[in-house]
Amino acid sequence: MPQALPQTIAAAEFGRCADAIAAAARELAALGWTPATSSNFSMRVDADHAAITISGRDKGRLGRDDIMLIDLHGRPVGTDARPSAETGLHTQVYRRRPEIGVVLHTHSRTQSVASRLFAREGVVRLEGWELQKAITGYTTHESVLEIPVFPNTQYMPELEARVDAWLDAGRPLHAYLIDGHGIYAWGRDMPEARRHLEALEFLLGCELDLRRLSA
Ligand SMILES: [Zn+2]
Repeated sequence: MPQALPQTIAAAEFGRCADAIAAAARELAALGWTPATSSNFSMRVDADHAAITISGRDKGRLGRDDIMLIDLHGRPVGTDARPSAETGLHTQVYRRRPEIGVVLHTHSRTQSVASRLFAREGVVRLEGWELQKAITGYTTHESVLEIPVFPNTQYMPELEARVDAWLDAGRPLHAYLIDGHGIYAWGRDMPEARRHLEALEFLLGCELDLRRLSA
């Protein structure tokens, strides 16, 4: 069944979001960050809706028909397609952070290995790297950028509760790793979300190299 949109959402607007998600997904897939149909991507459409990748599609071959509309509680809108199993982690960011417009979730090798390495500490502390300045709000390499690592689970409410607890404690949150799984990163728009994701991929790779070389 094709996507049936609510009257408040113009087809052109949904199409713009779907095209942007599909293009980003294809590019991130080309980098090898979305192996075996993993990963999922979303974009806010309005205050109450987001567009998100349909579950199980090859992220290297995404087109407009692979993107569906959901409300911010993760329910499909105007379609019987099934959104990603991790949709709740996307909608949580949109509900809690009204300024956020894009959420990107990938499973690169670097993200996966780093998540295992730092799982015991529960956080990656990035300090002294110039590229920390790619994260909005960070203006110097001397600041400390904390990326939490949450335990993996197939039960999304448990992960959502951990994210809520971090935010409720008033700690800055720009992205998080899930142990043995991958990363969630976001931004106000696609360029900012991409910049955050790419900077974190680079920084995590540097941390892994440092440990390898100083062993
Ligand atoms: Zn995942």
